[in-house]
Amino acid sequence: MTRPASMSRAGTACVRRDLMAAGPRPSRASAGADKTSPRSGPAPYVAAMTDISMTDRCDCGATAGPLGMCVDYYHGILAEEQSDPQMFRWHACVVVTYLLQHSSRAHEKYLDDQYRQLQLYVDQGLDALLRLAAHRVARNNHRARPSYGTAPLTTYAPLPQGEPPRFSASFSGLPVKDGSFVFDGHSAYGDRIKAIAEATVESWKSVQS
Ligand SMILES: [Zn+2]
Repeated sequence: MTRPASMSRAGTACVRRDLMAAGPRPSRASAGADKTSPRSGPAPYVAAMTDISMTDRCDCGATAGPLGMCVDYYHGILAEEQSDPQMFRWHACVVVTYLLQHSSRAHEKYLDDQYRQLQLYVDQGLDALLRLAAHRVARNNHRARPSYGTAPLTTYAPLPQGEPPRFSASFSGLPVKDGSFVFDGHSAYGDRIKAIAEATVESWKSVQS
């Protein structure tokens, strides 16, 4: 189940691609297309196609980068980390950060847990998150106390109701050189992922206040 459209960032960029294909959006980030579509002008489907081609904003509100939208960066990371075990250490951080920035693509029932995981990571670092993941795997294999899997997360804030404001760091802002996200080393890459994670938690936390 995805979140209902009514819970999306109202009327702006948070429109799923499949919905976009169905017709023109009520509003858009760039008003440029309006100049070429006078009221008596092209048929609606022409306006819709123009709209799609001119979309330069992601669901999360970020501007597209050289690789495209956040989803293009996300898939690029997932592909590269497959053959790079050191880079793969940030896999869970990448996934939960991406889903919390693009919650219309996430499973709502898991989002609260993912938000708490992200807070754990920002608060205690990568090793703490990897420890939690390892314990959860062990628990699922009946080799650990059932309570440990969620215990470290209960102290963190639940996911607030509502939509977070725009994030100050996004996937589409990640630098890529020679087709690699870890061109300057894993530590630098990890710092960039952490910055996006921190921006994500910060935005969601502001929903509560
Ligand atoms: Zn995005």
